[in-house]
Amino acid sequence: MSTVNLTNEDSEYMQTGDMDMTYISSQQTELPGGAEQQTMRVYLRVRPFSKEELSDKEDQDCVGIENSQTVTLNAPKGSANMKSSEKGIGMSLHKFSFSQIFGPEMMQSEIFEATVKSQMSDFLDGKNALLFSYGVTNAGKTYTIQGTPKQPGILPRVLDATFQYIGGHLYDGMDLKPYLRNDAQYLEPDQVKQEKSAKAAIFASVKEECEPLRSSGLESCSALTSNPTEADGSQFALWVAFFEIYNECVYDLLQASLCSKSKKRSSLRVCDDGAGNCYVKDLRWINILTLDEASKVLQFGNKNRSAAATKLNQSSSRSHSIFTIKLLKIEDSTVTRISEFSLCDLAGSERCNKTKTFGERLKEAGNINNSLLILGKCLTALRNNQTEGMKNSYIPFRESKLTKLFQAVFCGKGRASMIVNINQCASTYDETLHVMKFSAVAKQVVQVIPDKPLKSLAPCLVGRDGKPLVKNGVIDTQALESFLCEEELLDEEDEANMSLATENELANMIESLRTKLLAERKRNLVQEMEIRNEMGDAMLQQLMESEELRSRQIEELKESFEEKLENTFEIYKDAIRQHAYQSAMNNLEDDYVAFDEFIAEQDKVETLKRKVSELEGLTSSIGGLCAVPTVDQSCQTHPYKSTEAAGDDRCKHLYKEKCAIDSICEDKQQLIICLEKRLKDINVTLENTRDGYLEKSSELDDLQRKSKDQTESMEEILWQNVDKDREIASLKSELAKLSQNPPMQLRPKRGLLANIRDAVTSPRKTSTTRTPRKTAHL
Ligand code: ADP
Ligand code: MG
Repeated sequence: MSTVNLTNEDSEYMQTGDMDMTYISSQQTELPGGAEQQTMRVYLRVRPFSKEELSDKEDQDCVGIENSQTVTLNAPKGSANMKSSEKGIGMSLHKFSFSQIFGPEMMQSEIFEATVKSQMSDFLDGKNALLFSYGVTNAGKTYTIQGTPKQPGILPRVLDATFQYIGGHLYDGMDLKPYLRNDAQYLEPDQVKQEKSAKAAIFASVKEECEPLRSSGLESCSALTSNPTEADGSQFALWVAFFEIYNECVYDLLQASLCSKSKKRSSLRVCDDGAGNCYVKDLRWINILTLDEASKVLQFGNKNRSAAATKLNQSSSRSHSIFTIKLLKIEDSTVTRISEFSLCDLAGSERCNKTKTFGERLKEAGNINNSLLILGKCLTALRNNQTEGMKNSYIPFRESKLTKLFQAVFCGKGRASMIVNINQCASTYDETLHVMKFSAVAKQVVQVIPDKPLKSLAPCLVGRDGKPLVKNGVIDTQALESFLCEEELLDEEDEANMSLATENELANMIESLRTKLLAERKRNLVQEMEIRNEMGDAMLQQLMESEELRSRQIEELKESFEEKLENTFEIYKDAIRQHAYQSAMNNLEDDYVAFDEFIAEQDKVETLKRKVSELEGLTSSIGGLCAVPTVDQSCQTHPYKSTEAAGDDRCKHLYKEKCAIDSICEDKQQLIICLEKRLKDINVTLENTRDGYLEKSSELDDLQRKSKDQTESMEEILWQNVDKDREIASLKSELAKLSQNPPMQLRPKRGLLANIRDAVTSPRKTSTTRTPRKTAHL
């Protein structure tokens, strides 16, 4: 595998930026050295109300588009913003400016034409382009990027325009593939085969239901750049990738395995190519040849994205999804230029809802907000770096995957732009305001109309007398005049030089110096005010950010403390349980007797009792049978005499009973033997019967098989019969035809007919003669 390094060190794209509000409409200016100066373009798109929103009275004139670059946000009643402005914190009216603002009536084609068309021609020209869509969930980000089959968004339009540009110069070899971030690699035939099968697998899983983009929604885009000239022998290959960043993990949306339910999807690593360019390692790139193929790839990725979200019970709005198109220019089988166009549908920017954030969810919400926060910080730092005196401030690109991946674009290797999507709903006003503030950070041209300016943050320039020079945001001209009083305009040195010049000259000099100084002071003052204003805004922004961070940290702490508390509680519960058990055991230990021992003891008692009673019986019988009573005894034991006789009787009676039982036992024994014998006999007969049955059943099987064979042959014969009948019929019809012909031709046919009759009748005869013979045999 050989590689071609195409790292583009082209620095003509240095983003020098232009912060002045008045330059919004001319973001790109030529510098003497040929370099371009540009700011990041930030557009605003306002989504139309849906029917439900209108019926829910969401339309409260919160968003007012003043002109194509200015929008006013007006806090509705009940919004947090309105409440705080009523308390004197902040204002209820905000003004923001954008590169361009698109109202609800704007068509997809108009958005494309006005936003990415210039980036599009950059891309076709070999430069990189990046487009973000930013906003809360349900504000129209995906609609803007992808659109619907009937209303295709920017992505299908970019693809369409690219294919139009390529025209007949498409390179379909599939053996030149993007590699690392800015390189390409040659593929061996085996690898090409693998590419083809991967592509086929994707297409196979996307049903034909997907409407081809061109036939449905894409009116042909006007030619962006003239097609490559015929004389120019170059060709173009187009590769696409689709991935998402969720919870700071990168997932490939074009991996077929994602669709399977069992497998856990694995995240990809973001690596450095050694030249400071980050790329997603092992990301799948698909070579596309038509717009339909591209739309299938997109559909496949979308399906994967929602499947993964459903599986993990997440909302896909919590991830950033990025579709990247790479255009390879190929001359003489060599890649001579690579450019990429990335379209990034950012995660919903809504801040985490406290009622729904626990554990992992909180972490996830934190990560998502974090990556957006880092994006904002990077943009701010980039802007600061372009300001004299603030150069070399740290840009936290490496703090999130998203900014890490697009660092190069931000640093001059391409052009980035952002479409901010908002809705006009009153219920989500506070979030919308947050979105606007973020985009103001992105653009750094926030303009706030101060209803009640924050005192601490408002510019507070004071004159020599200590009185403020600015009142309610307006310069106090009187105070300013006195601040710029003439007394200070000339110093001692000037006075010394004055003696050498003529009076007139000196007067002129003084006059011109005075005006210059005045102008200088005025300029300085205005500049200082602007700086203070900006600083105030930046501080406000920072305060808001840190407040959010703090509240998130508090939430996290609360969460962890709750967890700890719960753990401690569990530990105590366990300890108490243990203690109770232990003390119960201690009490038991003294009187404790094992169950087995108890049973054994009981058995012993039982046997001893039995022995006692036996012995009692024995002593009584022995006493009766062989006692030789003494005289005294006889006298004393007189009452025993009757019991002796009774014992004798009982003994005899018992003996008799025993004999009777013995004989019964013998009878029973014999009966048992007899029964056993009979059982044996029955077993033998059963066995015999079983053998007989088995024999018979095998015979039956044979017979069944035979009958089956016979029915089959019967069927065959029947079929033959049918054939013969058909033959007869055809012969008959032939005969009929022949019989209509002249007698000259008939004559020889009659002989044939006779033959046929013989042939037809003879088998029947034989069969009839055969049947009785057969039956006789049977
Ligand atoms: P997001 O991606 O920001 O969550 P979607 O792009 O999914 O929002 O848009 C939400 C809904 O609003 C979708 O049903 C979409 O079709 C509709 N929608 C968004 N923008 C527009 C628009 N400009 N015109 C018409 N419908 C729109
Ligand atoms: Mg979306």
